[in-house]
Amino acid sequence: MTAPVATAELWRTLPAAHQPHWPDAAALNEVVAELHSYPPLVLASECDIARDRLATVARGEAFLLQAGDCAETFAGVTVDRISSTLRVILQMARVVGDSTSLPVLTFGRIAGQYAKPRSEHTEIRGGITLPSYRGDAVNGAEFTLDARTPDPARLKQAYLSSSATLNLLRALSSEHVRPVEFFTSHEALLLEYESALTSFDAGTGKSYDLSAHMIWIGERTRQLDGAHVEFASQLSNPIGVKLGPTSTREDVLRLVDKLDPRREPGRLTLIAWMGTGVVRSRLPGIVSAVEGSGAQVVWVCDPMHGNTVVAESGHKTRDLPAVLDEVSGFFEVHRSLGSHPGGVHVELSGDDVTECTGGGITVADLHHRYETACDPRLNRRQSLQLAVHVAELHRS
Ligand code: PEP
Ligand code: MN
Repeated sequence: MTAPVATAELWRTLPAAHQPHWPDAAALNEVVAELHSYPPLVLASECDIARDRLATVARGEAFLLQAGDCAETFAGVTVDRISSTLRVILQMARVVGDSTSLPVLTFGRIAGQYAKPRSEHTEIRGGITLPSYRGDAVNGAEFTLDARTPDPARLKQAYLSSSATLNLLRALSSEHVRPVEFFTSHEALLLEYESALTSFDAGTGKSYDLSAHMIWIGERTRQLDGAHVEFASQLSNPIGVKLGPTSTREDVLRLVDKLDPRREPGRLTLIAWMGTGVVRSRLPGIVSAVEGSGAQVVWVCDPMHGNTVVAESGHKTRDLPAVLDEVSGFFEVHRSLGSHPGGVHVELSGDDVTECTGGGITVADLHHRYETACDPRLNRRQSLQLAVHVAELHRS
């Protein structure tokens, strides 16, 4: 089943930021056609359930915990990595849930988080310039021309890796006495990949991107007249949008009109990252404008991306106290406006990595287990400290 070309393919006529320069268009088209013939990773009915659950957050009746790697890797498709990520997210949900009367929804940045927007097109090391690493779905992290050249075969590997990950997640989340509901999400960056996994149901007239239950649009690709926003506007999945510190009320109101024209609770999740220093001054204007628009969105705090610093050791890092303070600021803003602080969105690992400082990790420790493929993640202990902090904010 295919959608009418005019609407479903409209995104192709618009500028798409942060797309790889695939060297061989014919090879890309072949992969995309093959992906299109593959079975969906999730069902449209599951996306509807995810959306219904998010509607409960939008109404102030639940809390959302969305978490996982900044960038998953193909090498990370292991039982250890997948189960430790799931375990820490479920532990965090229990910590938050036990202290509040609110159900906690769990969404992973998992089973598809393989593509990254990068601030620089190229990376220079030792006088050599190569294309930047854009996530395992595009190229390899190794600093060689061969690895860094975008390879469309990687899109197939991204599908297969997502499928294997999802298979284990489904098994793990249903094996206990009380099965848990766990949804998948990732940034819908690579539009060729996302559209290959999108299907149109002539019966309902709806399109779903069946690569994940929820997808989000990144801060760097949320241009109103850009391809990503247009693409997402045609879908029935729940949609997230990241909002960095330069977001204006006007931008956000127009995004709300484009992505949630019918004002449906659960449709739109706004994931704001402002930075600890400015969350209290920048967020209120945006929240009050959106609340005044009649939209019932899910408000989420991403306390990671606005608090990234480069340590003296050269490592990109984040300090846990700053992360916790942004979450505090987020709660303060919503409490003062009477809106619901709906959730947190964090980059974490279930392992004892040393990528963020605080909670016992110092700058001198960063080199011990600095394993991220992109941004620094909270480790298991730091993640649980964040959960305790959220629980305390709920009680206060
Ligand atoms: C991310 O979530 O890893 C990311 C790139 O975020 P943003 O789009 O908000 O910069
Ligand atoms: Mn990141």
